[in-house]
Amino acid sequence: MTSTKPSPSPSLNHLSRRALPKLGIAGGIVSGVALGGWAGASRGLAQESTPGATPDVDLDLLLPATPAIEDDDEPTLEQTEGPYFTTNTPERTNLREEGVVGTNLTVAGFVVGLDGAPIPSTLIEFWQADGDGVYDNEGYRLRGHQLTDDEGRFILETVTPGLYPGRTRHIHVMVQAPGRDVLTTQLYLPDEPSNDEDNIFDESLRLEIQPEKLEDGSEVGLFTFVLDLS
Ligand code: FE
Repeated sequence: MTSTKPSPSPSLNHLSRRALPKLGIAGGIVSGVALGGWAGASRGLAQESTPGATPDVDLDLLLPATPAIEDDDEPTLEQTEGPYFTTNTPERTNLREEGVVGTNLTVAGFVVGLDGAPIPSTLIEFWQADGDGVYDNEGYRLRGHQLTDDEGRFILETVTPGLYPGRTRHIHVMVQAPGRDVLTTQLYLPDEPSNDEDNIFDESLRLEIQPEKLEDGSEVGLFTFVLDLS
């Protein structure tokens, strides 16, 4: 079995400008590259090296060779962006930096079309509260973007988001296949008592928690984003 890890794309000029008005942000030019995704993607790729950009975990060991998708799978449900989205996040798959509060959680999976075919080079932006339920609205703690690898896979090394008033534990996500509109949604943990009290919680957005933890004690939650590219 070969080891394939996500590799950052050198360019985002294949991404759609159509997403920009939807996100309410302006595009720009950095190093001669036209930026089509949300502005969060631009700055990270302009940085020469980003700690955590390369995952420590081998995706071949975490994920099946191909994504499992049912014939009747529907596109991943859209959910609200919430008030705490920030642009210009770093490109990275590991959000566990010094000072981040919380227990380790690793999220991994695929981005696929309705036909189950993986979608490489899909831009994914994650942002979330720390284990105490606190967002970093000044900097980029627990925020980052990445591109799916050649097999449409992603991995996020993070911590379990904490609770804050009115919400169950959740991770915010934007997903944009090359040249397509942005899907904005949220991911949830299964068996979370506060899920039932959350107004927008949806069962279809639960992570599939794996029976075994990683060596670092991290819980592993799998999720497949299904995009309607028609
Ligand atoms: Fe939130």
